[in-house]
Amino acid sequence: MKYISTRGQAPALDFEQVLLTGLASDGGLYVPETLPRFSHEDIIEMASMDYPQLAQRIIEPFVGDAIPAADLQQIIADTYAVFRHNAVAPLTQIGHNQWVLELFHGPTLAFKDFALQLLGRLLDYVLERRHQKVVIMGATSGDTGSAAIEGCKRCKNIDIFILHPHERVSDVQRRQMTTVTGDNIHNLAVQGNFDDCQAMVKASFGDRSFLPSDRSLVAVNSINWARIMAQIVYYFYAAVALGAPMRPVAFSVPTGNFGDIFAGYLAREMGLPVAQLIIATNRNDVLHRVMTTSTYGRQALQYSLSPSMDITVSSNFERLLFDLYDRDGDAIAALMREFEHGDVHLSDKAMGRARNLFSSYRVPDEETCAQIAATWNECEYLLDPHSAIGVKAALASGLSADIPVVTLATAHAAKFPQAITRSGINTEPALPLHLADLFDRPERFEVLPLELSAVQAFMANNLSA
Ligand SMILES: *Cc1c(COP(=O)(O)O)cnc(C)c1O
Repeated sequence: MKYISTRGQAPALDFEQVLLTGLASDGGLYVPETLPRFSHEDIIEMASMDYPQLAQRIIEPFVGDAIPAADLQQIIADTYAVFRHNAVAPLTQIGHNQWVLELFHGPTLAFKDFALQLLGRLLDYVLERRHQKVVIMGATSGDTGSAAIEGCKRCKNIDIFILHPHERVSDVQRRQMTTVTGDNIHNLAVQGNFDDCQAMVKASFGDRSFLPSDRSLVAVNSINWARIMAQIVYYFYAAVALGAPMRPVAFSVPTGNFGDIFAGYLAREMGLPVAQLIIATNRNDVLHRVMTTSTYGRQALQYSLSPSMDITVSSNFERLLFDLYDRDGDAIAALMREFEHGDVHLSDKAMGRARNLFSSYRVPDEETCAQIAATWNECEYLLDPHSAIGVKAALASGLSADIPVVTLATAHAAKFPQAITRSGINTEPALPLHLADLFDRPERFEVLPLELSAVQAFMANNLSA
Protein backbone atom coordinates (compact mmCIF):
# COMPACT_ATOMS: atom_id res chain seq x y z
CA MET A 1 0.00 0.00 0.00
CA LYS A 2 1.28 3.45 -0.98
CA TYR A 3 0.37 6.75 0.67
CA ILE A 4 0.17 10.06 -1.17
CA SER A 5 -0.01 13.67 -0.01
CA THR A 6 -3.19 15.74 -0.33
CA ARG A 7 -1.09 18.53 -1.90
CA GLY A 8 0.41 16.38 -4.59
CA GLN A 9 4.07 17.42 -4.30
CA ALA A 10 5.57 15.16 -1.62
CA PRO A 11 6.97 11.70 -2.42
CA ALA A 12 4.67 8.69 -2.02
CA LEU A 13 5.49 6.64 1.10
CA ASP A 14 4.98 3.06 2.22
CA PHE A 15 3.26 2.15 5.49
CA GLU A 16 6.40 2.12 7.62
CA GLN A 17 7.46 5.54 6.38
CA VAL A 18 4.02 7.04 6.82
CA LEU A 19 3.92 5.75 10.40
CA LEU A 20 7.07 7.73 11.18
CA THR A 21 5.97 10.90 9.40
CA GLY A 22 3.68 13.71 10.41
CA LEU A 23 2.88 16.31 7.81
CA ALA A 24 4.04 15.62 4.28
CA SER A 25 6.97 17.74 3.06
CA ASP A 26 4.59 19.81 0.90
CA GLY A 27 2.45 20.65 3.94
CA GLY A 28 -0.24 18.13 3.02
CA LEU A 29 -1.57 15.07 4.83
CA TYR A 30 -0.99 11.50 3.77
CA VAL A 31 -3.88 9.34 2.54
CA PRO A 32 -3.88 5.84 1.01
CA GLU A 33 -3.46 5.86 -2.76
CA THR A 34 -6.30 3.34 -3.07
CA LEU A 35 -8.68 1.91 -0.49
CA PRO A 36 -9.38 -1.77 0.14
CA ARG A 37 -13.01 -2.64 -0.72
CA PHE A 38 -15.12 -5.12 1.20
CA SER A 39 -17.98 -6.86 -0.63
CA HIS A 40 -21.42 -7.63 0.77
CA GLU A 41 -20.22 -11.18 1.49
CA ASP A 42 -17.03 -9.94 3.18
CA ILE A 43 -19.10 -7.78 5.52
CA ILE A 44 -21.48 -10.63 6.32
CA GLU A 45 -18.46 -12.66 7.44
CA MET A 46 -17.45 -9.88 9.83
CA ALA A 47 -20.46 -10.64 12.02
CA SER A 48 -18.66 -13.63 13.53
CA MET A 49 -15.46 -11.73 14.34
CA ASP A 50 -14.56 -10.34 17.74
CA TYR A 51 -12.98 -6.89 17.93
CA PRO A 52 -9.32 -7.93 17.48
CA GLN A 53 -10.20 -10.28 14.62
CA LEU A 54 -12.14 -7.54 12.87
CA ALA A 55 -9.29 -5.07 13.46
CA GLN A 56 -6.90 -7.49 11.80
CA ARG A 57 -9.23 -7.85 8.79
CA ILE A 58 -9.61 -4.07 8.33
CA ILE A 59 -6.04 -3.01 9.11
CA GLU A 60 -4.10 -5.72 7.27
CA PRO A 61 -4.58 -4.27 3.75
CA PHE A 62 -3.34 -0.84 4.92
CA VAL A 63 -0.19 -2.32 6.42
CA GLY A 64 0.48 -4.53 3.40
CA ASP A 65 3.77 -6.40 3.65
CA ALA A 66 5.32 -3.89 6.07
CA ILE A 67 4.54 -6.19 9.02
CA PRO A 68 4.07 -9.99 8.77
CA ALA A 69 0.44 -11.00 9.49
CA ALA A 70 1.31 -13.02 12.61
CA ASP A 71 3.21 -10.10 14.15
CA LEU A 72 0.41 -7.68 13.32
CA GLN A 73 -2.05 -10.05 14.95
CA GLN A 74 0.01 -10.06 18.15
CA ILE A 75 0.26 -6.26 18.17
CA ILE A 76 -3.50 -5.94 17.73
CA ALA A 77 -4.21 -8.56 20.41
CA ASP A 78 -1.96 -6.73 22.90
CA THR A 79 -3.53 -3.37 21.99
CA TYR A 80 -7.14 -4.28 22.63
CA ALA A 81 -6.38 -6.53 25.62
CA VAL A 82 -5.80 -3.39 27.71
CA PHE A 83 -9.41 -2.28 27.20
CA ARG A 84 -11.55 -3.01 30.24
CA HIS A 85 -14.62 -4.28 28.48
CA ASN A 86 -14.86 -7.71 26.93
CA ALA A 87 -16.52 -6.27 23.81
CA VAL A 88 -13.87 -3.48 23.55
CA ALA A 89 -16.45 -1.14 21.94
CA PRO A 90 -19.88 -2.09 23.37
CA LEU A 91 -23.18 -0.67 22.10
CA THR A 92 -25.86 0.61 24.46
CA GLN A 93 -29.40 1.47 23.42
CA ILE A 94 -30.83 4.76 24.70
CA GLY A 95 -33.97 5.09 22.60
CA HIS A 96 -35.80 3.67 19.60
CA ASN A 97 -33.04 3.07 17.06
CA GLN A 98 -30.76 5.33 19.07
CA TRP A 99 -27.50 3.71 20.08
CA VAL A 100 -24.36 4.78 21.86
CA LEU A 101 -21.04 3.20 20.92
CA GLU A 102 -18.93 3.31 24.07
CA LEU A 103 -15.39 4.13 23.06
CA PHE A 104 -14.18 4.98 26.57
CA HIS A 105 -13.12 1.64 28.01
CA GLY A 106 -9.43 2.17 27.29
CA PRO A 107 -6.80 3.27 29.83
CA THR A 108 -7.49 7.03 29.61
CA LEU A 109 -11.29 6.84 29.21
CA ALA A 110 -11.46 8.49 25.78
CA PHE A 111 -11.68 7.12 22.24
CA LYS A 112 -8.14 8.29 21.47
CA ASP A 113 -6.90 5.11 23.19
CA PHE A 114 -8.15 3.07 20.22
CA ALA A 115 -5.60 4.70 17.97
CA LEU A 116 -2.79 5.62 20.34
CA GLN A 117 -2.52 2.22 22.02
CA LEU A 118 -2.03 0.77 18.55
CA LEU A 119 0.26 3.54 17.32
CA GLY A 120 2.66 3.15 20.26
CA ARG A 121 2.98 -0.57 19.64
CA LEU A 122 3.35 -0.21 15.86
CA LEU A 123 6.06 2.41 16.32
CA ASP A 124 7.99 0.34 18.83
CA TYR A 125 7.82 -2.68 16.53
CA VAL A 126 9.23 -0.93 13.47
CA LEU A 127 11.81 1.04 15.50
CA GLU A 128 13.11 -2.16 17.10
CA ARG A 129 13.51 -3.65 13.65
CA ARG A 130 15.30 -0.53 12.36
CA HIS A 131 17.50 -0.20 15.50
CA GLN A 132 16.28 3.34 15.72
CA LYS A 133 15.02 5.64 18.47
CA VAL A 134 12.62 8.55 18.03
CA VAL A 135 11.30 11.49 19.99
CA ILE A 136 7.60 12.14 20.22
CA MET A 137 6.62 15.72 20.87
CA GLY A 138 3.05 16.91 21.24
CA ALA A 139 0.93 19.63 22.76
CA THR A 140 -2.28 18.83 24.53
CA SER A 141 -5.22 20.55 26.11
CA GLY A 142 -6.31 17.23 27.55
CA ASP A 143 -7.15 13.89 25.98
CA THR A 144 -4.44 13.46 23.36
CA GLY A 145 -1.57 13.85 25.81
CA SER A 146 -2.71 11.23 28.27
CA ALA A 147 -3.64 8.77 25.52
CA ALA A 148 -0.24 9.26 23.85
CA ILE A 149 1.60 8.79 27.14
CA GLU A 150 -0.36 5.64 27.96
CA GLY A 151 0.22 4.37 24.43
CA CYS A 152 3.99 4.89 24.55
CA LYS A 153 4.87 4.26 28.18
CA ARG A 154 6.28 0.80 27.54
CA CYS A 155 8.04 1.69 24.29
CA LYS A 156 11.79 1.27 24.69
CA ASN A 157 12.57 3.20 21.56
CA ILE A 158 10.53 6.32 22.20
CA ASP A 159 11.13 9.36 24.39
CA ILE A 160 7.89 11.24 24.75
CA PHE A 161 7.54 14.93 25.64
CA ILE A 162 4.03 16.29 26.11
CA LEU A 163 3.51 20.01 26.60
CA HIS A 164 0.43 21.23 28.42
CA PRO A 165 -0.52 24.76 29.48
CA HIS A 166 0.43 25.05 33.18
CA GLU A 167 -2.64 25.19 35.43
CA ARG A 168 -5.00 25.24 32.45
CA VAL A 169 -5.99 21.59 32.06
CA SER A 170 -8.49 19.85 34.32
CA ASP A 171 -7.24 17.96 37.38
CA VAL A 172 -8.34 14.59 36.02
CA GLN A 173 -6.70 15.25 32.68
CA ARG A 174 -3.44 16.50 34.19
CA ARG A 175 -3.22 13.61 36.61
CA GLN A 176 -3.86 11.12 33.82
CA MET A 177 -0.61 12.40 32.29
CA THR A 178 1.55 13.25 35.27
CA THR A 179 0.96 10.11 37.33
CA VAL A 180 2.29 7.83 34.61
CA THR A 181 5.91 7.31 35.50
CA GLY A 182 8.75 6.08 33.35
CA ASP A 183 12.18 7.42 32.42
CA ASN A 184 11.02 8.00 28.84
CA ILE A 185 7.94 10.05 29.81
CA HIS A 186 8.17 13.80 30.25
CA ASN A 187 5.32 16.15 31.09
CA LEU A 188 6.19 19.77 30.47
CA ALA A 189 3.88 22.32 32.06
CA VAL A 190 4.50 25.44 30.01
CA GLN A 191 3.68 28.86 31.42
CA GLY A 192 1.43 29.82 28.54
CA ASN A 193 -1.81 28.71 26.89
CA PHE A 194 -2.54 25.78 24.60
CA ASP A 195 -1.81 27.77 21.44
CA ASP A 196 1.62 28.71 22.84
CA CYS A 197 2.34 25.03 23.44
CA GLN A 198 1.23 24.13 19.96
CA ALA A 199 3.34 26.89 18.43
CA MET A 200 6.42 25.47 20.19
CA VAL A 201 5.71 22.02 18.81
CA LYS A 202 5.26 23.43 15.35
CA ALA A 203 8.50 25.40 15.58
CA SER A 204 10.35 22.31 16.77
CA PHE A 205 9.11 20.25 13.82
CA GLY A 206 10.20 23.07 11.54
CA ASP A 207 13.78 23.16 12.90
CA ARG A 208 14.88 19.93 14.52
CA SER A 209 18.51 20.93 15.01
CA PHE A 210 18.12 20.91 18.82
CA LEU A 211 18.02 17.11 18.67
CA PRO A 212 20.91 14.77 17.78
CA SER A 213 20.81 13.88 14.09
CA ASP A 214 19.93 10.22 14.71
CA ARG A 215 16.69 11.05 16.61
CA SER A 216 13.80 11.95 14.40
CA LEU A 217 10.73 13.73 15.68
CA VAL A 218 7.38 11.96 15.33
CA ALA A 219 3.89 13.48 15.59
CA VAL A 220 1.06 11.81 17.45
CA ASN A 221 -1.75 14.20 16.59
CA SER A 222 -4.45 13.01 14.24
CA ILE A 223 -2.52 14.00 11.15
CA ASN A 224 -0.73 10.68 11.72
CA TRP A 225 -2.36 8.27 9.28
CA ALA A 226 -2.21 5.25 11.61
CA ARG A 227 -4.59 6.96 14.02
CA ILE A 228 -7.27 7.32 11.36
CA MET A 229 -6.75 3.74 10.24
CA ALA A 230 -7.37 2.33 13.72
CA GLN A 231 -10.63 4.25 14.00
CA ILE A 232 -12.18 2.72 10.88
CA VAL A 233 -12.58 -0.58 12.70
CA TYR A 234 -15.27 0.42 15.17
CA TYR A 235 -17.57 1.78 12.45
CA PHE A 236 -17.63 -1.69 10.92
CA TYR A 237 -17.96 -3.32 14.34
CA ALA A 238 -21.01 -1.27 15.32
CA ALA A 239 -22.73 -1.39 11.92
CA VAL A 240 -22.36 -5.15 11.60
CA ALA A 241 -23.77 -5.65 15.10
CA LEU A 242 -26.84 -3.65 14.04
CA GLY A 243 -27.50 -5.56 10.84
CA ALA A 244 -25.11 -4.26 8.16
CA PRO A 245 -24.67 -4.95 5.30
CA MET A 246 -28.39 -5.76 5.00
CA ARG A 247 -29.35 -2.64 6.93
CA PRO A 248 -27.67 0.77 6.53
CA VAL A 249 -26.63 2.60 9.69
CA ALA A 250 -26.02 6.30 10.42
CA PHE A 251 -23.38 7.71 12.76
CA SER A 252 -23.32 10.88 14.82
CA VAL A 253 -19.77 11.94 15.69
CA PRO A 254 -18.69 14.59 18.21
CA THR A 255 -16.16 16.34 16.03
CA GLY A 256 -13.14 18.57 16.55
CA ASN A 257 -10.26 17.91 14.23
CA PHE A 258 -12.38 15.77 11.83
CA GLY A 259 -10.18 12.70 12.44
CA ASP A 260 -12.78 10.41 13.94
CA ILE A 261 -15.54 11.19 11.47
CA PHE A 262 -13.13 10.95 8.55
CA ALA A 263 -12.57 7.33 9.57
CA GLY A 264 -16.34 6.84 9.20
CA TYR A 265 -16.18 8.32 5.72
CA LEU A 266 -13.42 5.86 4.82
CA ALA A 267 -15.48 2.95 6.19
CA ARG A 268 -18.23 3.92 3.76
CA GLU A 269 -15.77 4.23 0.88
CA MET A 270 -14.60 0.71 1.76
CA GLY A 271 -18.07 -0.70 1.26
CA LEU A 272 -19.91 -0.27 4.57
CA PRO A 273 -23.49 0.91 3.98
CA VAL A 274 -23.50 4.19 5.93
CA ALA A 275 -26.72 6.18 5.50
CA GLN A 276 -25.41 9.41 6.95
CA LEU A 277 -22.52 10.89 8.93
CA ILE A 278 -23.60 13.62 11.32
CA ILE A 279 -20.95 16.19 12.21
CA ALA A 280 -21.74 17.25 15.78
CA THR A 281 -19.91 20.37 16.93
CA ASN A 282 -19.96 22.61 19.99
CA ARG A 283 -19.94 26.41 19.65
CA ASN A 284 -16.61 26.14 17.81
CA ASP A 285 -18.54 25.36 14.67
CA VAL A 286 -16.10 25.76 11.78
CA LEU A 287 -17.40 22.53 10.22
CA HIS A 288 -21.07 23.35 10.72
CA ARG A 289 -20.41 26.67 8.97
CA VAL A 290 -18.73 24.92 6.04
CA MET A 291 -21.67 22.59 5.66
CA THR A 292 -24.28 25.35 5.82
CA THR A 293 -22.52 28.21 4.02
CA SER A 294 -19.87 26.47 1.83
CA THR A 295 -17.31 28.82 3.39
CA TYR A 296 -14.36 27.47 5.33
CA GLY A 297 -13.13 30.15 7.70
CA ARG A 298 -11.51 30.54 11.11
CA GLN A 299 -13.20 32.22 14.04
CA ALA A 300 -11.82 33.02 17.49
CA LEU A 301 -11.64 30.10 19.90
CA GLN A 302 -14.41 29.88 22.48
CA TYR A 303 -13.99 27.74 25.58
CA SER A 304 -16.80 25.26 26.14
CA LEU A 305 -17.83 22.40 28.42
CA SER A 306 -16.53 20.00 25.76
CA PRO A 307 -12.87 21.09 25.67
CA SER A 308 -11.65 18.29 23.40
CA MET A 309 -13.69 19.84 20.61
CA ASP A 310 -12.51 23.41 21.20
CA ILE A 311 -10.72 24.05 17.92
CA THR A 312 -10.69 26.75 15.28
CA VAL A 313 -9.46 24.66 12.36
CA SER A 314 -10.12 20.98 11.57
CA SER A 315 -6.89 19.76 10.04
CA ASN A 316 -8.24 16.43 8.81
CA PHE A 317 -10.92 18.18 6.78
CA GLU A 318 -8.19 18.59 4.16
CA ARG A 319 -8.29 14.82 3.67
CA LEU A 320 -11.97 14.99 2.76
CA LEU A 321 -11.43 18.04 0.54
CA PHE A 322 -8.88 16.04 -1.42
CA ASP A 323 -11.59 13.54 -2.40
CA LEU A 324 -14.27 16.21 -2.90
CA TYR A 325 -11.90 17.87 -5.41
CA ASP A 326 -11.26 14.63 -7.33
CA ARG A 327 -7.88 14.12 -5.64
CA ASP A 328 -6.41 17.15 -7.37
CA GLY A 329 -3.37 17.99 -5.21
CA ASP A 330 -2.75 21.32 -6.95
CA ALA A 331 -6.31 22.44 -6.26
CA ILE A 332 -5.96 21.54 -2.57
CA ALA A 333 -2.58 23.28 -2.28
CA ALA A 334 -4.17 26.42 -3.77
CA LEU A 335 -7.19 26.23 -1.44
CA MET A 336 -5.02 25.81 1.63
CA ARG A 337 -2.78 28.72 0.59
CA GLU A 338 -5.90 30.85 0.31
CA PHE A 339 -7.04 29.62 3.72
CA GLU A 340 -3.79 30.91 5.28
CA HIS A 341 -4.99 34.41 4.45
CA GLY A 342 -8.72 34.21 5.02
CA ASP A 343 -11.98 32.50 4.21
CA VAL A 344 -12.23 30.01 1.37
CA HIS A 345 -15.37 29.46 -0.66
CA LEU A 346 -15.76 25.81 -1.68
CA SER A 347 -17.19 24.84 -5.06
CA ASP A 348 -20.83 23.83 -5.49
CA LYS A 349 -19.76 20.49 -6.90
CA ALA A 350 -17.59 19.69 -3.87
CA MET A 351 -20.22 20.82 -1.38
CA GLY A 352 -22.96 18.94 -3.22
CA ARG A 353 -20.96 15.77 -2.77
CA ALA A 354 -20.29 16.51 0.90
CA ARG A 355 -23.97 17.14 1.60
CA ASN A 356 -24.95 13.81 0.05
CA LEU A 357 -23.32 12.05 2.95
CA PHE A 358 -22.70 14.52 5.77
CA SER A 359 -25.06 16.63 7.79
CA SER A 360 -24.09 18.89 10.67
CA TYR A 361 -25.46 20.28 13.89
CA ARG A 362 -24.11 22.81 16.39
CA VAL A 363 -24.75 22.30 20.08
CA PRO A 364 -23.99 25.11 22.55
CA ASP A 365 -23.30 24.38 26.25
CA GLU A 366 -26.88 24.86 27.48
CA GLU A 367 -28.18 22.25 25.02
CA THR A 368 -25.32 19.93 25.93
CA CYS A 369 -26.30 20.07 29.60
CA ALA A 370 -29.97 19.67 28.73
CA GLN A 371 -29.15 16.51 26.77
CA ILE A 372 -27.07 15.07 29.62
CA ALA A 373 -30.05 15.63 31.92
CA ALA A 374 -32.62 14.28 29.44
CA THR A 375 -30.72 11.06 28.76
CA TRP A 376 -30.13 10.59 32.48
CA ASN A 377 -33.82 11.08 33.24
CA GLU A 378 -34.98 8.84 30.40
CA CYS A 379 -32.66 5.88 30.99
CA GLU A 380 -30.28 6.62 33.86
CA TYR A 381 -27.46 6.68 31.40
CA LEU A 382 -24.74 9.24 31.96
CA LEU A 383 -23.27 10.91 28.88
CA ASP A 384 -20.08 12.94 28.94
CA PRO A 385 -20.49 16.41 27.36
CA HIS A 386 -18.84 15.40 24.04
CA SER A 387 -21.08 12.35 23.67
CA ALA A 388 -24.11 14.43 24.68
CA ILE A 389 -23.40 16.73 21.73
CA GLY A 390 -23.41 13.67 19.50
CA VAL A 391 -26.71 12.39 20.90
CA LYS A 392 -28.34 15.80 20.56
CA ALA A 393 -27.27 15.97 16.93
CA ALA A 394 -28.49 12.41 16.31
CA LEU A 395 -31.94 13.24 17.69
CA ALA A 396 -32.10 16.41 15.63
CA SER A 397 -31.01 14.72 12.41
CA GLY A 398 -34.51 13.91 11.19
CA LEU A 399 -33.47 10.53 9.83
CA SER A 400 -36.25 8.05 9.13
CA ALA A 401 -37.11 5.92 12.16
CA ASP A 402 -36.04 2.66 10.53
CA ILE A 403 -32.38 3.67 10.35
CA PRO A 404 -30.33 2.94 13.47
CA VAL A 405 -28.28 5.96 14.52
CA VAL A 406 -25.09 5.28 16.43
CA THR A 407 -23.57 8.12 18.46
CA LEU A 408 -19.90 7.71 19.17
CA ALA A 409 -19.44 8.16 22.93
CA THR A 410 -15.95 9.58 22.86
CA ALA A 411 -15.26 9.94 26.60
CA HIS A 412 -16.34 8.69 30.00
CA ALA A 413 -18.47 11.11 32.02
CA ALA A 414 -16.05 11.03 34.98
CA LYS A 415 -13.49 12.89 32.88
CA PHE A 416 -15.71 15.98 32.73
CA PRO A 417 -17.50 16.29 36.08
CA GLN A 418 -18.03 20.05 35.62
CA ALA A 419 -20.54 19.49 32.81
CA ILE A 420 -22.39 16.87 34.83
CA THR A 421 -22.72 19.28 37.75
CA ARG A 422 -23.89 22.05 35.43
CA SER A 423 -26.59 19.82 33.98
CA GLY A 424 -28.26 19.83 37.39
CA ILE A 425 -28.76 16.09 37.77
CA ASN A 426 -28.34 14.50 41.12
CA THR A 427 -25.48 12.13 40.48
CA GLU A 428 -21.70 12.25 40.48
CA PRO A 429 -19.81 10.25 37.91
CA ALA A 430 -17.30 7.94 39.58
CA LEU A 431 -13.97 7.09 38.02
CA PRO A 432 -13.74 3.42 37.00
CA LEU A 433 -11.96 1.17 39.50
CA HIS A 434 -8.61 1.19 37.72
CA LEU A 435 -8.45 4.99 38.16
CA ALA A 436 -10.20 5.24 41.51
CA ASP A 437 -6.95 6.17 43.29
CA LEU A 438 -5.93 8.72 40.63
CA PHE A 439 -5.95 11.57 43.12
CA ASP A 440 -3.66 9.68 45.52
CA ARG A 441 -0.95 8.88 43.01
CA PRO A 442 2.26 10.92 42.97
CA GLU A 443 2.63 13.36 40.08
CA ARG A 444 5.72 14.24 38.11
CA PHE A 445 6.00 17.22 35.78
CA GLU A 446 8.37 20.01 34.95
CA VAL A 447 7.24 23.63 34.95
CA LEU A 448 8.99 25.52 32.17
CA PRO A 449 8.88 29.16 31.09
CA LEU A 450 7.29 30.18 27.82
CA GLU A 451 10.58 30.01 25.96
CA LEU A 452 11.26 27.70 23.06
CA SER A 453 14.95 27.43 23.95
CA ALA A 454 14.14 26.27 27.49
CA VAL A 455 11.78 23.57 26.23
CA GLN A 456 14.21 22.38 23.56
CA ALA A 457 17.15 22.35 26.00
CA PHE A 458 15.11 20.30 28.46
CA MET A 459 14.33 17.79 25.72
CA ALA A 460 17.89 17.52 24.48
CA ASN A 461 19.13 16.97 28.06
CA ASN A 462 16.59 14.30 28.88
CA LEU A 463 16.84 11.85 26.00
CA SER A 464 17.39 8.22 26.92
CA ALA A 465 20.75 6.67 26.04
C1 LIG B 1 -10.41 14.30 20.46
C2 LIG B 1 -11.80 14.21 20.93
C3 LIG B 1 -12.90 14.53 20.10
C4 LIG B 1 -12.72 15.05 18.68
O1 LIG B 1 -12.21 14.08 17.80
P1 LIG B 1 -11.64 14.52 16.36
O2 LIG B 1 -11.06 13.29 15.78
O3 LIG B 1 -10.60 15.57 16.65
O4 LIG B 1 -12.78 15.06 15.58
C5 LIG B 1 -14.18 14.36 20.59
N1 LIG B 1 -14.39 13.94 21.86
C6 LIG B 1 -13.37 13.64 22.70
C7 LIG B 1 -13.68 13.22 24.09
C8 LIG B 1 -12.05 13.76 22.27
O5 LIG B 1 -11.05 13.46 23.11
